[in-house]
Amino acid sequence: IDPAVYVRNTIRSVPDWPRPGVTFRDITPVLQDPRSFRVLIDLFVYRYMRQRLDLVAGVDARGFILGSVLAYELNLGFVPVRKKGKLPFRTVAEEYSLEYGNATVEMHTDSVRPGQRVLLIDDLIATGGTMVAASKLLQRLGANVVEAAAIIDLPELGGSQALRETGLDIYTVCS
Ligand code: 5GP
Repeated sequence: IDPAVYVRNTIRSVPDWPRPGVTFRDITPVLQDPRSFRVLIDLFVYRYMRQRLDLVAGVDARGFILGSVLAYELNLGFVPVRKKGKLPFRTVAEEYSLEYGNATVEMHTDSVRPGQRVLLIDDLIATGGTMVAASKLLQRLGANVVEAAAIIDLPELGGSQALRETGLDIYTVCS
């Protein structure tokens, strides 16, 4: 079986969560199943092992799980893109809009050095707002965002397309 299909088949779809009419794509079964977890991480490892990356940046909170394991396997450092108010040192912030209201992501000002080749990773791309904000933050710090990666793309929401139109390269394991 195709590894991406194996991962896709392990994702759980939860109807009407967090609101009626929304189907949440739950990746906890992927992490819980050792085969699926390894297949998933290996897909990313083989994609990025020859890309001469300097750093992996993971988005709060599921991007931390994927990004830290991937960084470890690639012998790279990991930096967090956190929700507002969690980081103790000097930060840069980027606000973005959600379906209801706004959200803010933050990074430490010294988490990336100018010119470093950074992979940005999260679990899922919906509207793309989170990835746009995170990549803007990284670019403000001088990073070269080599690619934005996720397990799942929800193409009907247009986020990955919009991200590509900003010039960012996108990779997702499944849709
Ligand atoms: P976006 O900013 O692209 O609209 O939403 C993506 C962000 O929301 C990601 O950080 C992702 O973790 C979270 N998210 C939104 N919908 C889902 C979903 O159905 N499943 C999961 N696992 N995360 C979601």
